[in-house]
Amino acid sequence: MSFKIHINGQLYDKEDAKISVYDHGLLYGDGVFEGMRSYGAKVFRLEDHLVRLYNSAKAICLEIPISQAEMTSAVNDTLAANGIADGYVRLVVTRGAGTLGLDPNRTSDPQVIIITDHISLYPQEYYDNGLEIVSVSTIRNHPAALSPRVKSLNYLNNILAKIEGLQAGCVEALMLNHKGEVAECTGDNIFLVTGGEVFTPPIDAGILEGITRDVVIKLARAAGLTVRETALTKHDVYIADECFLTGSAAEIVPVVKVDSRVIGDGKPGPITRDLTTRFRETTRA
Ligand code: PMP
Repeated sequence: MSFKIHINGQLYDKEDAKISVYDHGLLYGDGVFEGMRSYGAKVFRLEDHLVRLYNSAKAICLEIPISQAEMTSAVNDTLAANGIADGYVRLVVTRGAGTLGLDPNRTSDPQVIIITDHISLYPQEYYDNGLEIVSVSTIRNHPAALSPRVKSLNYLNNILAKIEGLQAGCVEALMLNHKGEVAECTGDNIFLVTGGEVFTPPIDAGILEGITRDVVIKLARAAGLTVRETALTKHDVYIADECFLTGSAAEIVPVVKVDSRVIGDGKPGPITRDLTTRFRETTRA
């Protein structure tokens, strides 16, 4: 089935949903985006995603042409028009069409694009048995070059890491930061469980402030667990009892092997499973 796509306030069939080849989103990756999930026809943590989108836009001096309230309605209306209950929403704002030079002042009309679709999930086997991942040589963007807090249309940093992971036979790859600390995976944040406590890299490790990460931290604390946002090394990963990844699309995925070291007993751990149950309850509430 083909879903209607929202562009600047209008719905188009997929074949007719087009933007200019002069758009700086295409020419330079100049724009921002969000990837969100809907459960029961409601976008999960929509407000948090929109705050992150508008903050990303602000950081790159991109003025989104509609207000956050208007964007909320646009997302909800697009989802409703397509009759999607449990799905995926991709919200993109590009700099708009301009000249062939970099100058953002010579562009006009940022494009607001909302694509809603069925979610393509990781195979169930990953959730049941856990993932194997590898650490890769491509480091996460240096925050002084391009802050990983900006969810920009330029994902080459993550794509290069993903290619390294895929070449090693893994669907996710662990990226370190410029200091050699654990940062995040190519499209997911990372958590460890050691000695009954939960650990995850802090925002200043140079990571995207994942919405799922935030939900999981809150759920873990509400469950009485200690959560520490602290600098982590690969050594911490290798000696962890449990490891899992979080992301809007992936939700919570257990990791059972990193760089060929078995994590814990090689099976998804009890705290990972418990947090997964709590997370599912939250999304379906
Ligand atoms: N890190 C990166 C680099 C991401 O692209 C994403 C989102 N796909 C995440 C983490 C997870 O963020 P969220 O939970 O907000 O989807």
